[in-house]
Amino acid sequence: MGFLFMVYKVLVKKMLLSLLYRLGLLNLWHWKNRHKICVLMLHGVMAPHSQTSWTPLRPQISPDELKRTLSILSHYYQFITAEQAIDILEGKVAPIDNALLITFDDGYRNNIDYALPIFQQFGAKPILFVVTGHLDSGLPFWFDRIDYALQQNMGELISFEYQGNKYCFDATSLSALKVSYQKFRDDCKCAFTDDIDMNQLFNALSEMLESRSGKALREICVEDDWSGIVSWEQLKEAVNLNLLDVGSHTVDHWRLDSLSEAQTITQLQQSKVRIEDELATQCDYFCYPNGNYNKTAIQLLKVVGYRAAFSTDVGLCQSRDDVMTLKRFNFPSNKTKPELLYLLNA
Ligand SMILES: [Zn+2]
Repeated sequence: MGFLFMVYKVLVKKMLLSLLYRLGLLNLWHWKNRHKICVLMLHGVMAPHSQTSWTPLRPQISPDELKRTLSILSHYYQFITAEQAIDILEGKVAPIDNALLITFDDGYRNNIDYALPIFQQFGAKPILFVVTGHLDSGLPFWFDRIDYALQQNMGELISFEYQGNKYCFDATSLSALKVSYQKFRDDCKCAFTDDIDMNQLFNALSEMLESRSGKALREICVEDDWSGIVSWEQLKEAVNLNLLDVGSHTVDHWRLDSLSEAQTITQLQQSKVRIEDELATQCDYFCYPNGNYNKTAIQLLKVVGYRAAFSTDVGLCQSRDDVMTLKRFNFPSNKTKPELLYLLNA
């Protein structure tokens, strides 16, 4: 009954949006918002193929779906760069009607290998927010490392004790594992106010899982299209060809509101210097790991010399907004034209 009601609700919403679209009301709404800037956030762009040995539990957008959605968006929006967006928001240049900026978080290699050629086709120049410590080490992110390690221990209930706490994962099926892994991540983000402590738990858990299965993501990460990190050489080439901009997403992907002032400055400064040294370009833009920020973080970003920062708060950006907490939308996938217009103008 509950499932049928949900299907019914989705259908009614689709019909209603299609009616609003036919009446021209969604287009009118979009036109009313033409001076605001829409910023979209992407992470991994990949689809399973013959060479992939696993698939992450986190949602991914496939290159085909990216292309389909971009071809709809390109009818309604003009792609702009990060610099253009901030210039418009700060009133330095005239607004561009229905401007849209694409951002990538984390710096996966698949962004360059699979997504960038598609953006090139649409004349869009995205900004990639990289985690410089991972670029230097080439090691996968903790969320991919645990995901992979859990999936190498399928078929059982897994429990793990750490500092008096017990953590449980249901690895009897992929769908059950997805639920318990998401719950673990959410619980940890609430329970830990210190990301350095939290990462020690993640390390201990990963090591336990890796020793049980004898398999670790770091062994395949370089070749792995899901979890592989972009290299400085790839970034250099793309920046030199003027295909993308690069911003900072810290050194270690730690949440800024969980760090001391000194640690925050180190994360902001070291990542900025590293990007500027490697790419011989200015690193003016920042993106908050996990979307977390506070007053101190904003203040320190300005002190270190960043011009603007992107959060995960949802909505359109407009001229009176604080450029240190810019809003974004998750890149919408599998949506119809009316649904896209509705979502990105809400
Ligand atoms: Zn991130």
